Amino acid sequence: MQEELQSAGETSPRIEPRKLLALGLIVGVSGLAVAAVLGSGTSDAGIGRTDQPTLLTPPAIEEPEAYTPRGYLYGGSEYLPDPGRRHRESDRGETVSLPDGPQSRELTVQVLPGDTLGQILDRNDVSRQDGFDAISTLKSVFDPRRLTPGQSVTLGLVESDGGVTLARLLIEAEPGRRSFVERQDTGKFSAGEEHDPITTETMAYSGVIDSSLFAAGERAGVSPTVLSQLIQLFSYDVDFQRDIQKGDRFEVMVDRRTLPDGTKVGDGEIDYASLTLSGEKLVLYRFEDASGLVDYYNAKGQSVRKALLKTPVDGARITSGFGMRNHPVLGYSKMHKGVDFAAPIGTPVYAAGDGVIEKAGPWSSYGNYLRIRHTNTYSTAYGHLSGYAKGISSGVRVRQGQVVAYSGNTGRTTGPHLHYEVLMSGEQVNPLKIKMPSGRALAGNELRKYQNLRAALDRTFASLGGTGAVAAAAPADAPKAR
Ligand SMILES: [Zn+2]
Repeated sequence: MQEELQSAGETSPRIEPRKLLALGLIVGVSGLAVAAVLGSGTSDAGIGRTDQPTLLTPPAIEEPEAYTPRGYLYGGSEYLPDPGRRHRESDRGETVSLPDGPQSRELTVQVLPGDTLGQILDRNDVSRQDGFDAISTLKSVFDPRRLTPGQSVTLGLVESDGGVTLARLLIEAEPGRRSFVERQDTGKFSAGEEHDPITTETMAYSGVIDSSLFAAGERAGVSPTVLSQLIQLFSYDVDFQRDIQKGDRFEVMVDRRTLPDGTKVGDGEIDYASLTLSGEKLVLYRFEDASGLVDYYNAKGQSVRKALLKTPVDGARITSGFGMRNHPVLGYSKMHKGVDFAAPIGTPVYAAGDGVIEKAGPWSSYGNYLRIRHTNTYSTAYGHLSGYAKGISSGVRVRQGQVVAYSGNTGRTTGPHLHYEVLMSGEQVNPLKIKMPSGRALAGNELRKYQNLRAALDRTFASLGGTGAVAAAAPADAPKAR
């Protein structure tokens, strides 16, 4: 047999390592059967020749043991007890493994750009049928379309002479959460999820606005992502160019979730926030209604979402009007017919409301211009743009808050800014004077539940007091109030 192995290597340079493994199995498990096949073969038919596949298929081979999930340890390199290997030196001095039965191994691969789960399984010799079954089952816990480059995928494989069988497929869905499918005794896959324990800390921040809410928030230690979310939530009610004055105040309370090793999970949920603008306090609270819908509501229990945004541009990039010496910020007038938001070139411009693009292109002194029709009556228009977001053209439907364009300095301007108009039946109206109908209002039992939650969140915020404070339930190593 040793001679034949050597001869296989020399006469068939195209032979793949996998074929050699299969050959090893044939030799190890069914030596007699192989001998019988060889006996009937002609002398010039080399073993393992890829053009002679019949020689690799002995007439009778024991069925591989069905995989039974046992002894699995996440992060380990083996999830089945070592089935035992016999080794011997080959003629070339290499160690050749002669397995007794199915070999199980685990490997972790990083998702590459453009990869699909199917391709990853295919690359690792998992059969199409196994791959299809595993992915179909996985869909109940993980959407395969959400696979992203850099994510890690762990495969538990059982190799036998029958080929490669998928025993387990595990995806790190997000830090601390893993989705997996595992083959059961029946041969069918079942799906599941694993979570690391998550610690939730409640963080409270407050501060005085000097130049912008974003700058004040960052100074107080609020993360940029939370600040962006906060500014978007207030953009329905607040004109970030004209409404913010020096000395205005903000408060925000955030749930921050961390894994045992300190890794942050997500960006944290805003539970409560307030803006006190020229003495008037606007509040919003996060509330999940009976149907599971999460939204933010004001003091009266009305959704803060309105048909049109008051600030249709990334408010984080706006420095309030009071500091703008070189860019006279214009409000609405008969001559001007719109309001201006001084913003650096390239600042994301949001669709003020749901609607359909009516025009996207250069238009006279407006420079690059965009108009969205929201209802039969209302449209909004955006001027002096530096460019349009991908896919934006006439007839395209857009959602409120979607980035549709970028602010610029095109057309007749005095400096980089967004010119914003609200049109009612085609005529410009003063956006600062429009009273938007309030969003959904909570009522009855739902409203009572909301008001109870509101009172509880107010008490929590009051007990946390200062900026960066952490609820008492947090672990000892959490940041302290300062
Ligand atoms: Zn203007």
